[in-house]
Amino acid sequence: MNVNKNKYIIGTLLNMYHLQGRKCFIEPSIKEWLKQWDIPLQNDTEPAVTFISKETLLRDVIFREIIDERDLRSVSFAISHRDKVSYSLVLSKIGDMKRFFMHTVLHEIAHMLGTEDHAEADQWAFEELEKLDMKFFEQIDIS
Ligand SMILES: [Zn+2]
Repeated sequence: MNVNKNKYIIGTLLNMYHLQGRKCFIEPSIKEWLKQWDIPLQNDTEPAVTFISKETLLRDVIFREIIDERDLRSVSFAISHRDKVSYSLVLSKIGDMKRFFMHTVLHEIAHMLGTEDHAEADQWAFEELEKLDMKFFEQIDIS
């Protein structure tokens, strides 16, 4: 799926959590984009990361432009490992692209709100995912 087609959904979620001043970038390569600003990247396989803005010193977010089923599987595997739950349980929660995408956005929002720990961010994102209005899922373009 092309994240650019869903940029307004990310913006809506940032607003919902009072992060409207924060920037959201969507780029072909997260690694290349961060490198040109001398921002280090720990894990370049993730479909999204937050980073400290050199202008505002607050956390902004960057998404890889294209996210696909391989990301869904590799991130779900990483979540099951760090949260110590079964892979099938993770897939039951975020096993389709729409839910995976929304969980990814919420996970990064957790970091922007101040949660450092990835497992805590996962957990918060799972809880918030269940509260989201169905209209969000109807609007997501996974093409
Ligand atoms: Zn994280």
